[in-house]
Amino acid sequence: MLAKKTRFIVITGSIMSGLGKGIVTSSIAKLLEVRGFKVVPIKFDGYLNVDCGTMNPFRHGEVFVLDDGTEVDMDFGTYERFLNKSLSGMCSITGGKLFQRIIEKERKGEYLGRDVQFVPHLTDEIKNWVQNVGKENDADVVLVEVGGTVGDMENSYFIESMRQLYFEKHNMVFVQLTYVPSLSSGEPKTKPTQQATRLLQSLGIQPNIILTREQEKLSEESRKKISLYCSVPEEAVFDDPMVGTVYELPLVLEKQNLYKQLARQLELDPNKEPDLKEWQRRVSHIIEPKGTPLKIAIVGKYTAVKDAYISVKEALVHSAAAVNCGLDVCWVEASELEKVADISSALKQYDGIIVPGGFGTRGIEGKIKAIQYARENKVPYLGLCLGLQLMVVEYARNICGMKDANSTEFDKKTKYPVIDMLPEQQQISRMGGTMRLGAYECMISKNTIAHTAYKKEKVEERHRHRYEVNPEYVKQLTEKGLVISAIHPKNNIVEIAEWKESFGVATQAHIEWKSRLEEPAPIFVEFMKAAKTRAGQ
Ligand code: GLN
Repeated sequence: MLAKKTRFIVITGSIMSGLGKGIVTSSIAKLLEVRGFKVVPIKFDGYLNVDCGTMNPFRHGEVFVLDDGTEVDMDFGTYERFLNKSLSGMCSITGGKLFQRIIEKERKGEYLGRDVQFVPHLTDEIKNWVQNVGKENDADVVLVEVGGTVGDMENSYFIESMRQLYFEKHNMVFVQLTYVPSLSSGEPKTKPTQQATRLLQSLGIQPNIILTREQEKLSEESRKKISLYCSVPEEAVFDDPMVGTVYELPLVLEKQNLYKQLARQLELDPNKEPDLKEWQRRVSHIIEPKGTPLKIAIVGKYTAVKDAYISVKEALVHSAAAVNCGLDVCWVEASELEKVADISSALKQYDGIIVPGGFGTRGIEGKIKAIQYARENKVPYLGLCLGLQLMVVEYARNICGMKDANSTEFDKKTKYPVIDMLPEQQQISRMGGTMRLGAYECMISKNTIAHTAYKKEKVEERHRHRYEVNPEYVKQLTEKGLVISAIHPKNNIVEIAEWKESFGVATQAHIEWKSRLEEPAPIFVEFMKAAKTRAGQ
């Protein structure tokens, strides 16, 4: 039994993917959270991978990492950025995890000789999981986002288990996100929404609330049609319009009284007032920033797929909102930089340069060139994970005279392996989950950029890497002026490095993963301040 009456909101998507279900889920969660409810989101992904660790960012977008080291879908980044809360790996249910559990139980004989079936064994497993997350988090409301679209084979059994949970408990609403396309004449078409809802109804589920994505504002006529054909009251059909920034959506849905509708259907106090002032203030900084936007270059490898660096981009948005300046994120393909003869012509327009995380050889020399340019021209530099490793490689080559110094990830035979495999990773040959993953402590030295940013000596940031600064070279690097401003206390892994002559700071952790609109990553804020100063603002 649940300790208290926990409510469930199940969010499904229809017609096509990419409608922004994660942002809708996060926005609904936010409207509850700002009213003092304890909320926890769950995401179901139907793929048979156990987690996202082995997925290519080109195909799937960024792999996000939680404190406990679970590698999850990038929607978790959105949840955390909206809710300003760290989630646990239990909030991520995948097809792979479910089948792994079922098969493990079967092998242990836990099904007592029965044949193991989708219903009830798999569906029970799901219902228990979802309810346990609610219990463990002492949640008032659990939001369950169903990945994929209604009608996919991959999520059919999950949707069936949500139907059963509703049948058993009733403390649940179904929110269906749909798309209303417009013909070239401008006429909006509600038929796909009608048919998508029929599809959900044929699975035994009547949506209680419908949100529609469309190019223009949802017309009253479309709202009426959707209501009539889908059996959803007009006041429960909401407009999910194009917004300037995703962080605006909670405000937009609040104006449409979405909470009142939820409160009525879930028997929550309808008069609870939201505290959205701080959120609103930061959103207004994003929408109407002061001054000329700062041009920040992200020198990466997956720049064609912007989602591959979504947390970096969002951390920039948060920090720009915090220092109240405009932001122009510019994507620079590292492999292109390798070809340019005059690096200055390629980089001189930027107020700050970032080298984000990455794997594999392509574009590495281009990134090193960008770092050298930033250091020599005093352009504020921020390195993240690989961006720290390459900052060290550049320093070793150009300041410490270690010609061709490199990471053994890129040159196994380098004479100066300034970046090398972590000892604990060396024995592991299997792929998934073989990295230093999750939150680790960083001890920060005083009088450093890192200390100015965090204002404390001990922080925890999230990691995902196999290589680290080779301890054998730390003395030579620091003697020549590189500042090691933070280490991991247990085995002295270099966590943060800095330049002395100009603003340059790099972290072994992916500090972007803990940046939230209401609590931006402190080092990003310092970087943005430095970029602002350089731009003369
Ligand atoms: N490829 C590097 C490593 O494995 C950096 C990883 C990263 O940037 N996330 O250590």
